[in-house]
Amino acid sequence: EATIIDGKATAASVTDEISARATRLVEETGVKPGLAVVLVGEDPASQVYVRNKGRMAEKCGFHSVQHNLPADAAEIDILSLVTQLNNDPEIHGILVQLPLPAHIDEGKVLQLIKPEKDVDGFHPVNVGLLGAGQTEKALVPCTPAGAVLLAKRAAGGDLAGLNAVIVGRSNIVGKPVAQLLLQENCTVTISHSRTRDLQEVVKGADLLIAAVGRPQMITGDWIKEGAIIIDVGINRIPAPEKGEGKTRLVGDVDFDTAKTVAKAITPVPGGVGPMTIAMLMANTLTAARRQQNLAEEPPLF
Ligand code: NAD
Repeated sequence: EATIIDGKATAASVTDEISARATRLVEETGVKPGLAVVLVGEDPASQVYVRNKGRMAEKCGFHSVQHNLPADAAEIDILSLVTQLNNDPEIHGILVQLPLPAHIDEGKVLQLIKPEKDVDGFHPVNVGLLGAGQTEKALVPCTPAGAVLLAKRAAGGDLAGLNAVIVGRSNIVGKPVAQLLLQENCTVTISHSRTRDLQEVVKGADLLIAAVGRPQMITGDWIKEGAIIIDVGINRIPAPEKGEGKTRLVGDVDFDTAKTVAKAITPVPGGVGPMTIAMLMANTLTAARRQQNLAEEPPLF
């Protein structure tokens, strides 16, 4: 029976450490890390994410601001807000909550964010630095960084030589996870919707990262005995057992069957999810220190 990886507890220890480091930064330099989150429109899920990010920033002792624009905001209004935040010395991290409304060119907005303030790590400069293995200069996307941190801890600190299989090739999860795992000296396979014999590919994984968005697609019989499983998927499914019309969250991995085979597995919710916000705080602090030309701090664990 697998160890259940407690993402909530790990995230809490990350944010405790970030908040201690932020306090020290303020004492030593008078600079408070500043995070600006931009929300366009009224998508309920995005509203929750943005609120949680703001709350956590305050909890870490950061300067935290939120900008809300209406769903019909013009592209130029969003671009001028980003420019204003780029030039604001109190703001070290800028996060534009995705998805943006269809009439906005997402790429244009993301590319306007100063790379050194791009705490989501989606600017082409940061994507390039990660691809070139220069993670010490990059800002790394939060969910991939959190997923790899959990994997590394579950493996006892070293992932070198493991066969890592990623299911999903998105720019926001699958690809950056692959880059990070290469840096950890894994043998990396990226599989996706067009992969042949996906089940066989997954069976070879010592470390499995699922980032598909299909509820409970990967079942226990796909899993190698003793594998570490990091389930990034967040899927809402009907839960009639909780009452009519009720729903619950599940991952891309069928938790109950997988946990009988795996060595360690993240639950959904409570696995990778909480790590995303924690790594956003870490990126904001890193961004603030770099903008003051301060030395890098040691890794979190
Ligand atoms: P996406 O839709 O952009 O990408 C999904 C990927 O899965 C694609 O590359 C596709 O090729 C692959 N895929 C689709 N069907 C497949 C199949 N049948 N077999 C194999 N591969 C298949 O999704 P995303 O943005 O990468 O997100 C993936 C999941 O992770 C979603 O459930 C999302 O909600 C979740 N997510 C969670 C967090 C978090 O924990 N904070 C953050 C981002 C995404």
